[in-house]
Amino acid sequence: MGGTARLFVISGPSGVGKGTLVSLVRQIRPDLGLTVSATTRPPRPGEVSDVSYHFLSEEEFSRRVSAGEFLEWAEVHGHRYGTLKDDVDAMLVSGRSVVLEIDVQGALKVRKVLPTAVLVFIEPPSLGELERRLRGRGTESEAQIDLRLANARRELELSARYDVRLVNDDRDAAAHRLVEVMKAFETDGGNPHNGSH
Ligand code: ADP
Ligand code: 5GP
Repeated sequence: MGGTARLFVISGPSGVGKGTLVSLVRQIRPDLGLTVSATTRPPRPGEVSDVSYHFLSEEEFSRRVSAGEFLEWAEVHGHRYGTLKDDVDAMLVSGRSVVLEIDVQGALKVRKVLPTAVLVFIEPPSLGELERRLRGRGTESEAQIDLRLANARRELELSARYDVRLVNDDRDAAAHRLVEVMKAFETDGGNPHNGSH
């Protein structure tokens, strides 16, 4: 893309529309690298192994943690999730910016290892709307929905530590704003904390 390849970390409460926005952004920016995370969560109907996630057993996940294969990993909503270091490195070395869609704990770990990472927090227009989206998706049990809504309040408090906060109101408008934010950081030449965003 002519600028500096950057690592963008996208977080936000479950159901806020991270997956939706990332796929819209990818239509506008097919050059962006996406990595496949590893998880111990069981697959949902329709999810494809090694495309949606690398679905690992608890033992295999632990083995990879010990082997130092993760850039970051965290326990989220009762399961472990992690980003494989080699995947990210390979894309950045090839000059492509990378988008990681990971939870707040993982995002703050990435910033420690890679201080030039740009942390973007996706906010819902309201908590009521977040609950509507999460229920509307229809992929979680009632207990999982309650857990995810309880975690959402804690996650929203951490949003102040992100470089950029973006409200996902209208999905196309939000996707375009995200593309603009990315372009600005890629052409800024390296310092994500320069106060211009
Ligand atoms: P996340 O990846 O953050 O968990 P999803 O992308 O799965 O969230 O979105 C959760 C639900 O909300 C989906 O049913 C999706 O179609 C819907 N959604 C996403 N963005 C918007 C938006 N801007 N307005 C209304 N509904 C949305
Ligand atoms: P889901 O189970 O809905 O696919 O994802 C649940 C949460 O796990 C989301 O907040 C998502 O951002 C987070 N997540 C997905 N992959 C990773 C990862 O590789 N690392 C971390 N830390 N969180 C992840």
